[in-house]
Amino acid sequence: MKAKYVKEYFLFPDISIMCLIFLISFGFLIPNLTSIGLWIALVVGMAAYSAAEYFTHRFLFHMRTPKKPFFLKILKRLHYDHHASPNDLHLLFLPLWYSLPNMAIAGAAAYLITSSLVITIAFIDGVILFLLFYEMEALYRPSSSQPNLPLGALDEESPPMASLQERELLVWCHKPGV
Ligand SMILES: [Zn+2]
Repeated sequence: MKAKYVKEYFLFPDISIMCLIFLISFGFLIPNLTSIGLWIALVVGMAAYSAAEYFTHRFLFHMRTPKKPFFLKILKRLHYDHHASPNDLHLLFLPLWYSLPNMAIAGAAAYLITSSLVITIAFIDGVILFLLFYEMEALYRPSSSQPNLPLGALDEESPPMASLQERELLVWCHKPGV
């Protein structure tokens, strides 16, 4: 990993705060590291994040343009604008105001199911670990929809499941006055 990326990545506030949360919460797990349940919960958390990331991207971030200005604004900030400016780190990384409440809900569900604080923390740490990995990988991943690509090029460039939505999104992005 190039030093430039490492610096850019770890100094970005949403990433550094997430790393800090991971380190502190992992500290609570250290006395229980011999428990196999902890490691299983960590792996389940990682799998849960990748599944959530796929479905959120597929069904929420690329949903049809909302009519309500408030939801449109949120969606633009969360993802639409990222496709318009793929290299803007502010838009590339998920904001804390989105990821932290989602993690709190996932953590509450994990605690309700397991009644174990250690298992819940391990699960959340798995989620954070994969989020950090995914965001780091995103720094390298070329964006599938550069705004200046001709629309026809999107079919080869973007995953087939997203092409229709990406196409609509691009049309929307280039509407004069938006
Ligand atoms: Zn997308």
